[in-house]
Amino acid sequence: MSGDTIYALSSGAGQAGVAVVRLSGPDADALLADLGVDPLPVPRRADLHRIVADGKLIDRAIVLRFPAPGSFTGEDVAELHVHGGPAVLDALFSAIGGTGRARLAEPGEFTRRAFENGKLDLTAAEGLADLVAAQTDAQRRLALRQYDGTLADLYEGWRARLVELMGCVEAEIDFSDEELPDGLRDETNANIAALRGEITEHLRSAARGERIRTGFPIVILGAPNVGKSSIINNLSNSDVAIVSETAGTTRDVIEVQLNLGGFAVTLSDTAGIRAAADGIEAEGVRRAEQRASDAALRLVVLDASEPEIPERVRGLITGDCIVVANKTDLLNAAYVPPVELEGCSPFPISAATGEGLDTLLARLSDAVRNSLADSEGALPTRRRHRDSLTDARDALGHVADAAFPELAAEDVRVALRALGRITGRVDIDEVLDTVFRDFCIGK
Ligand code: GDP
Repeated sequence: MSGDTIYALSSGAGQAGVAVVRLSGPDADALLADLGVDPLPVPRRADLHRIVADGKLIDRAIVLRFPAPGSFTGEDVAELHVHGGPAVLDALFSAIGGTGRARLAEPGEFTRRAFENGKLDLTAAEGLADLVAAQTDAQRRLALRQYDGTLADLYEGWRARLVELMGCVEAEIDFSDEELPDGLRDETNANIAALRGEITEHLRSAARGERIRTGFPIVILGAPNVGKSSIINNLSNSDVAIVSETAGTTRDVIEVQLNLGGFAVTLSDTAGIRAAADGIEAEGVRRAEQRASDAALRLVVLDASEPEIPERVRGLITGDCIVVANKTDLLNAAYVPPVELEGCSPFPISAATGEGLDTLLARLSDAVRNSLADSEGALPTRRRHRDSLTDARDALGHVADAAFPELAAEDVRVALRALGRITGRVDIDEVLDTVFRDFCIGK
């Protein structure tokens, strides 16, 4: 148990009917008593109490106690449910600070203590942070699965299998061939290869997990002035992108997050693609092309009133793009698509009148759903997971070719350590800092 007691507002900031202030640490009960909570409530039962400091009433609060170790952090925890106004919280925080028994928590400190007290593993801690941050239903479901231990169970299962296999590899170091059962090495190698196959397969789903968590990346591309910013504004119903009549205004990449059919989508507006006029614009075009190659989906915008498609734009169109012809309101007749472009037939829209934008949204939603559906199992959700899984896979790939059993054992050890890093079982100080850095105060 950590030495000091911490406190923080655990509910959202701003005015609300109720605000929850949480305390954790050895002095939680004493602090409640200092605030006039007498008698202390029975554990896990809500009691209404007057909260006082210097003999003056601060508010009336519902008070809950969760004694160690049966609490979120594993320490003595108390919750004060007060009225959610800024002055109430100011007065309560002064009163808590005034007891000299507690200090304000650092971001993520409650969850970090829970981790340190063995209440959850690192993937569950990440899942909890994701759950609080989730904006879409798919993000919520993914986060909840991770918080519930889907990833931890998988990785701990793999670790347990590897520990057994390690025993077989070490047996070859400790015993002579005659003392060992026939075929032990082949069997061990086959088991290691099978496990490596499972890790490889699991790694294939990493892009899906990361895309659900951080947003499915769609990049919007086209020549300057075709209406890219107008389309993004229209789709996002906001003025994130600058709409302007001067060619080449959107020089950097602008991103908006949309919720399409329950999935988070990151839509990036990019500099117009053309043989650039100046250095900054050339950099913008370079970034646009870079985005195009990283994106999960390209939305290419053509100008319906311009029969010529610039060569550099044509070069970005591949079979899996969505291509639209914008500004159809400027045409006197129905829009006629140009000859097939890599199998993508542009469809007509007008950012000005809104024509075709429903179709565009439906097409984008379908593409996202097709790519991310079937994502119910255990999915890695972070670069951190992917890197460690890759390390484990690579190390296991060397076992069969190791010249000595000692070297094979070292490869297995590297893989064990890599898997252990994900759940937080091994040498992880720097990992801890990355995981908890992204939490906010009160979690
Ligand atoms: P971007 O450079 O591709 O991002 O293009 P913008 O969105 O900045 O638009 C360039 C110009 O075209 C602006 O004057 C827009 O008002 C205009 N524009 C955009 N979409 C349409 C459209 O559907 N119809 C018409 N008539 N003008 C449009």
